[in-house]
Amino acid sequence: MHTSLLLALNVLGASIAWAQTPAPSKLSVYWEELSAAEFKDGIARAQGTCLLPFGVLEKHGPHLPLGNDLLNVRYAALNAAQQEYAIVFPAYYFGQIAEAKQQPGTVAYSRRLQLDLLQETTDEMARNGCKKIIIANGHGGNNSLLPYFAQTQLDTPHDYVVYVVGIMRSGPGEPKHKSNPATDMHAGESETSVSMIARPDLVHLDRAPQESGADQARVRLPDGVYTGIWWYARFPNHYAGEGAVASRELGAFAARTWINGIVQAIRAVKADRESLRLQNEFYERSSRPLETPQ
Ligand SMILES: [Zn+2]
Repeated sequence: MHTSLLLALNVLGASIAWAQTPAPSKLSVYWEELSAAEFKDGIARAQGTCLLPFGVLEKHGPHLPLGNDLLNVRYAALNAAQQEYAIVFPAYYFGQIAEAKQQPGTVAYSRRLQLDLLQETTDEMARNGCKKIIIANGHGGNNSLLPYFAQTQLDTPHDYVVYVVGIMRSGPGEPKHKSNPATDMHAGESETSVSMIARPDLVHLDRAPQESGADQARVRLPDGVYTGIWWYARFPNHYAGEGAVASRELGAFAARTWINGIVQAIRAVKADRESLRLQNEFYERSSRPLETPQ
């Protein structure tokens, strides 16, 4: 009698405790899917680390979708965040793509808007607790913009740190490529292979040979001399390489490598205690350079 009463009380106690603290549900990594309360939990679980997958809208040869870069980098970032929790910002396709304005479907914002929108986006992310923002780039045309954006964070004080990670498709043990790696740059074998994993429904391999992705080499300048028209001079079809030889085998390797690279980046950023401390020291000293120890 006594034992069964205790047992009943225990069961009652357990059920009350269960009712008060429901089993933790799996938090989504998608910013836009979280409720406000879940967002708070997500920021805590992510230790303030958020991902901003970054792409553009541009032609990708005759066989891939306009949003290809963003679709691929979001595939890598979302899979990485499932492995090492981070909150992933919604679709952001406001990068640098002036060089494809002659092609249908390209959306190329002005340089001022690109920088202002990105600054306000990271400011807003940080105001909501993302004190460590990893911009995961998916588009080669952003390769100058994003490090420049990170450099300009030193202009004025910010209470957060911007990190940039590039496209990470290659690594040891990579399956042999069938096309020339020197021109496998845009909608070519490597990129198309990743798309076959991320969004196979949007890849039309049969259309890949309809245009040439060959290097037309129409401007000849010494190495080290840069000019903005270089890309159009080489690849006016906005296609560089041979998408037709893409394979799911290479795509699986490249996607896995990219996901692992972002997982490692999230872990390293979570463990980074120095960048924000040094940024604050830098801002402080910048405001009084004559007091900086010589
Ligand atoms: Zn691109």
